[in-house]
Amino acid sequence: MARPNSRDRELRERAAAVIPGGMYGHQSVGLLPDDYPQFFERGEGAHIWDADGTRYLDFMCAYGPNLFGYGHPEIDAAYVRQLGLGDTLTGPTALMVELAEAMTAMVAHADWAIFCKNGTDATTMALTTARAHTRRRTVVRANGAYHGAAPWCVPRPAGTIDSDRAHQILCDYNDVASLAAAVAEAGEDLAAIFAAPFKHDAFIDQADPDPAYARRARERCHHTGALLVVDDVRAGFRLARDCSWSRIGVQPDLSTWGKCIANGHPISALLGSDKARKAAGSIYVTGSFWYQAAPMAAALATLRLIRESDYLERITALGERLRTGLGERASAAGFALRQTGPGVMPLFLFEGDPDLRKGFCFSSEMLARGVYLHPWHNMFLCAAMTEADIAGALDTPEGAFEALTRQIRDLARGEKLAVLSAGAR
Ligand SMILES: *Cc1c(COP(=O)(O)O)cnc(C)c1O
Repeated sequence: MARPNSRDRELRERAAAVIPGGMYGHQSVGLLPDDYPQFFERGEGAHIWDADGTRYLDFMCAYGPNLFGYGHPEIDAAYVRQLGLGDTLTGPTALMVELAEAMTAMVAHADWAIFCKNGTDATTMALTTARAHTRRRTVVRANGAYHGAAPWCVPRPAGTIDSDRAHQILCDYNDVASLAAAVAEAGEDLAAIFAAPFKHDAFIDQADPDPAYARRARERCHHTGALLVVDDVRAGFRLARDCSWSRIGVQPDLSTWGKCIANGHPISALLGSDKARKAAGSIYVTGSFWYQAAPMAAALATLRLIRESDYLERITALGERLRTGLGERASAAGFALRQTGPGVMPLFLFEGDPDLRKGFCFSSEMLARGVYLHPWHNMFLCAAMTEADIAGALDTPEGAFEALTRQIRDLARGEKLAVLSAGAR
């Protein structure tokens, strides 16, 4: 269904000439069905328009940053106002102190904050802080958990060397015995345990955190003097108005934030407790753009909405509605969906779909009906979505499931799934 004469197609061809691989990272060519647009023109509220002007209800929310809607008037007004006063200056504005005060007031474990630009800055700083605090080297983290694109944690090892990943022991998320074994192996050298707030790995079912796993991580860090780090870059403020592990009563020493804390404006943060303050003050961390005032103004406006609006209750309810409705429609059409993770960050995979053909096909059919889903990465709900948006999205799958049924029938007859052209996995 690739559209040969589209603007998107033209941009892809031009990109292929001047951008390595035509695109990189999670936007790399071929990670999504071939008919998915690669380029966009604009966003408003819960919707995005691709480069050819087609509008979609966007269940990716920029892979997390969009929490209150694209172009949120209040947040963007704060951003633009500060832009007029000054953004990248010789030093920070008072907003930096206000933002640190606001973040530490909201996140129970946190007594201080350091602001940066990307989640990777924050997770890498957490690693450095833990090593400075403990004067030890080893980090325990879970197989398959994403913590960013720096050499120590990048999922694809091209261009990295073994020593980039030295002094790390991987365990299995939610597996207490595996965590305990990794900690035992680290012995006297344990600097930190990193944990995702829930299992949100790509391609596989998500899983809520097992409180026993979280408590064991807490207890082991307490016992050994290592620091417990919760990487809340993706889930932070979508599950709670506090660190996500506050929901299971476990407080980390450090937490990392990014994605939605300024509703799409570039800022991230490392938060920590007093225990780690001295170490955090000892490491050298900075960046040309880390003191920018306009994203801080946007973050303050976003945090105000987080504190004062019922966004969390609304997106939670919408997520549940979507999950229930989709499950009903799938089973009515004779498909078994595995829907996992929190409703506000849903992932669904088809049963019996090891190569994701059904997922790719279904996503393409939904895209053609104006709903932008993801076949293997968790999705996101945002507070700009309405009951009507979800109801509309739930009117869509019937036709998409019918089309999927037809494609499977055709496939059984030996014809190729249309969706499996070009880059599909
Ligand atoms: C996205 C993400 C990161 C990295 O954040 P960037 O802003 O892309 O550098 C780290 N951890 C988690 C859990 C993420 O989802």
